[in-house]
Amino acid sequence: MIKVGFDAGHALTTLGKRTPDNEREWTFNDKVAKAFANELALYQRVTSRRFDDPTGQRDISLQERSDGANQWGADYYISFHHNANTSRWGDWTGVETYVYLGNKSTTSGKLAAAIHPAVVNAYGLRDRGIKEANFHILRETNMPSILIEGGFMDSRIDIKKLRDDQVLEKVGRMVAQNFANFVGLKKIAFVNKEVQEMPQQFLNETGRNEAKEMIRRGVKENLFHEKHEKVDEYNDIQLLSYALAYINRKTKN
Ligand SMILES: [Zn+2]
Repeated sequence: MIKVGFDAGHALTTLGKRTPDNEREWTFNDKVAKAFANELALYQRVTSRRFDDPTGQRDISLQERSDGANQWGADYYISFHHNANTSRWGDWTGVETYVYLGNKSTTSGKLAAAIHPAVVNAYGLRDRGIKEANFHILRETNMPSILIEGGFMDSRIDIKKLRDDQVLEKVGRMVAQNFANFVGLKKIAFVNKEVQEMPQQFLNETGRNEAKEMIRRGVKENLFHEKHEKVDEYNDIQLLSYALAYINRKTKN
């Protein structure tokens, strides 16, 4: 089982860390982090744990985050951020990924190289490259770690991407997919052969309702990436597949 620690930088309440229009950095980071975790949940033999406060209320110290990840025994750590330059609107732009000083050629650097191009592509912004920095979360975590600065909050160019939830979700998914490729994870097979060969109608009314209920619960618990708004129109195969996926992800948490 591969363990991935992650955080959405800061908190809602952190001073500074906001756009010139007062949007909090955390809200952008959080959307990427959530999409990342949802996508990673589609893979086998991997588990993730978040080390900032998922409600954004408490600004958990960097020390507490790195201690937590080290104690848990995370195999990798990813920190999601968005950049700022002057905190006034300007025309700077682009995406950076950081590793600790001297770590470009280590596993951290290789992880960054595996993920960074897809992140740049998902934002559709300038590539500012992979850089080294003496950041606490990179220095004090014992495992390979990267920190993504996904575009500038105080950029007239980048803010358009940051305000687009679809862009942020895509970034999170791309990070998960490229991470999965990097460490060689396989996706969970939702619909196996036996399920596909079943007749169209095989559940009774109670079974159908229970499956729908599970899927709705999964959406509420953030275990699915999709919202499954049309669950009432699903056929029995779809219902069973998603219900199995729900059980699968639930037992992993
Ligand atoms: Zn930040």
